[in-house]
Amino acid sequence: MTPMDCQRCGACCAQYRVSFYWAEGDDAPGGHVPVALTQPLNAHLRCMAGTSSRAPRCIALQGEIGASVGCAIYDRRPTPCREVTPGDAQCLRARTAHGVG
Ligand code: SF4
Ligand code: SF4
Repeated sequence: MTPMDCQRCGACCAQYRVSFYWAEGDDAPGGHVPVALTQPLNAHLRCMAGTSSRAPRCIALQGEIGASVGCAIYDRRPTPCREVTPGDAQCLRARTAHGVG
């Protein structure tokens, strides 16, 4: 089996609502996620724009899923993006849903 290559995938960026504590946003002290690319969920949470819909796709995802992708804010991405690991349950579910072998 070939190793899973995130730069040829991107499925998990178009599968889940990517929500996180509001203070990860760059309008809070120490925050780093560009707020312009987020939307509010409630008093405590934000999500990446585009991920809170029935057919989610993060606004920061560039390229074509299953071919060649990149994250426009990779160094500033929120916590949930850092927790998905190639080969874990969330990854495999997303890859299956998008038909990425
Ligand atoms: S679904 Fe898995 S392989 Fe694809 S981008 Fe996410 S972590 Fe990487
Ligand atoms: S911020 Fe980047 S890593 Fe996180 S869901 Fe969006 S495109 Fe994917």
